[in-house]
Order: sequence, then structure tokens, then C-alpha cells
Amino acid sequence: MAGAACAAALTDAGVAVRVLDRGRAPGGRMASPELRGRRVDVGAGYFTVRDEGFDAVVQRWQAAGLAREWTDTFGVLGADGERRTSTGPMRWATPGGLRSLVREVLGDIDVTTVDVDDLPDGDVVIAMPDPQAARVISVPDPVDYEPVIAVVCEFDAQTASWADLPFVDAAFVNDHPDISFVADDGARRGDHAPVLVVHTTGDRAARHLDDPDSVVPLVVEAVTGVLGVDAPVWTHAHRWTFAKPSGQHDESSRLATVDGRLVGFAGDQWCPQGSPRVESAWRSGTDLAAAILAARS
Ligand SMILES: Cc1cc2nc3c(=O)[nH]c(=O)nc-3n(C[C@H](O)[C@H](O)[C@H](O)COP(=O)(O)OP(=O)(O)OC[C@H]3O[C@@H](n4cnc5c(N)ncnc54)[C@H](O)[C@@H]3O)c2cc1C
Repeated sequence: MAGAACAAALTDAGVAVRVLDRGRAPGGRMASPELRGRRVDVGAGYFTVRDEGFDAVVQRWQAAGLAREWTDTFGVLGADGERRTSTGPMRWATPGGLRSLVREVLGDIDVTTVDVDDLPDGDVVIAMPDPQAARVISVPDPVDYEPVIAVVCEFDAQTASWADLPFVDAAFVNDHPDISFVADDGARRGDHAPVLVVHTTGDRAARHLDDPDSVVPLVVEAVTGVLGVDAPVWTHAHRWTFAKPSGQHDESSRLATVDGRLVGFAGDQWCPQGSPRVESAWRSGTDLAAAILAARS
């Protein structure tokens, strides 16, 4: 999202851009691969809207049917049987998967699939987690990231246990060694498929990064135990080595001059307010574009 927002703002201002991404489809951590015939949000599963500039973009998505208000209330499940709800900001979700929003921001901008390992020619924007950026260029005061493994669990919709889920929409799981969050992917996408996406804790993910599938039995045991549901009929593990920044930079982006050309840094770790999210990635890329335009003029 940071790179797409930056590229879109530069394009709008008449600057020619080339977007390079190593993913099979643009989206980064807003990934919605097709699994068993439907898209599943295996990275970010919803977004919040606190930023005024981002709000205008979200209204555009809403008008186009790409995003909709989902819920402001999540469950809170404790390992000791605690069950309550917690109301917070409105969470927005997408019928077509969060990746569709990155595609919309890019508009007509093409994306070339390439794993960049050296600084490309010209002025460059590096919009990725610091540990990934460090493969390309030295990063100022790099921020570490925590991992997450997302496990997609498909259930048998006919069983009574599915109907008796102890939460609607999504739930935080507190004080559990293995899982931290469970979301009803069918509820947020609006097709009511019996699919949950379960996020591991960072500690649990760190022990399974070499073999993410090895975490699935532990996650299944945790989900069936905490939710009281029957075991899923199908599972899929997705590894995020760099899921969540464990710190943040104190600016929303950084623009430097290296060997006579501009090199900019953006991403959700460039988030002085300390809440790395989809909207902070958008803000970071947008602010970096403004800084580049100012520097070029
Ligand atoms: C499991 C999970 C759950 C989340 N839940 C939420 C949530 O509910 N709400 C929310 O707001 N946020 C959530 N987030 C965070 C949100 O996804 C991120 O804040 C946001 O997507 C970050 O965007 P970005 O552009 O900064 O980075 P990224 O999305 O990581 O984009 C970086 C891009 O750089 C590319 N790249 C990396 N290295 C190279 C290279 N060498 N060459 C070429 N390309 C490269 C990658 O392919 C990627 O497309 C979640 C994240 C995860 C992983």
C-alpha cells in the first residue's frame, strides 16, 4: 500500500514511475490469494480510518463497492474461558479481498514482477519492511519486525459447533501461547463461507518459520479448544516473516540524497503515531510522494 500510494500520487503529479514488486500479485501484506475457489485475506483482514486524507480514499472505495463497514465490535476470548466483547473503531472489510484496494490505488500503473537486490537506476522509493529494504540499501535506524503465521481453517458449515461460535466476526485471544486472533473470513468478506483465519502469536510463529505447516496441529488444537468447535476439514498456513514492526520511525517517511539521486523510504514502520496499519502505510507513501515532488521542484 505504501508503494502504491506513493506511485499513484507521483503519477497524478505527472512524474513517470516504474513499480517493481517481487510478489506474484501486488498487495504485499494485504494479500488475498484464491484458496479453494474463494479469496481469503491471509494478511491484513480489515482496516481502520482515522486519517482524513485516507478517509477520502476510503469513501471512493466505498462508492465503488470495494470496501464496506464491517464491525466495531470484536470478541475477546481468554485462555481461562473469558468471553466478552470489546467495542472500538469501525473496522472496514472488502468483498473482494484487501488486495483489491492496492490494485485500485495503482489504477493503470503496471507492476513488474522482480525480486530487487540492488538499487535500481534513477530516483528510488523503497517501500517495504526495513529487514527487506536492508537487502537493497542501508536503512537508517532499522526497525525489527515480528512474525505471524496465518492459518486458514475451513469448517463443515453443517455442524452445530460452527453455528455456536462464541463470537461474531472476529475475536482477540488473550494470554494464549499459540494464537492471538481469529477472524471469520466469510463474515468480513460477506459470502458467509465457513472459514476462519487464525493468527499465531509472534513467539509461536518464530519457532515455525522454517516449516510453517508444522504449526497447523498446534493451531487446530488451540482453535478447537478455545472456540469449542469441531476440527476444520481443510487448513492452509501462510508465513509472514515480517508481519508487524516492533518499533517505529519518528517520521512518516524519509527522503535522502544518495550519490546525487533521491532515495525515499516508506512503509508501515514509518509511523510516528505508533500504530502500523494499512492507513499508516498509505499515509507514509503519500507523504513521501509530497516530499519527492517538493525536492524535484
Ligand atoms: C497477518 C497480518 C495481519 C494484519 N492485520 C492488519 C489489520 O487487521 N489491519 C491493518 O490495518 N493492518 C494489518 N496488518 C498490517 C498491514 O498489512 C500493513 O501495515 C500494510 O499492509 C503495510 O503495507 P506496506 O506497503 O508498508 O508493506 P508491505 O505490504 O509489506 O509491502 C512491501 C512490498 O515490498 C515487496 N518487496 C519486499 N522485498 C522486495 C524486493 N527485494 N524486491 C521487490 N519487492 C519487494 C513485497 O512483495 C511487498 O509487496 C496486518 C499484517 C499482517 C501480516
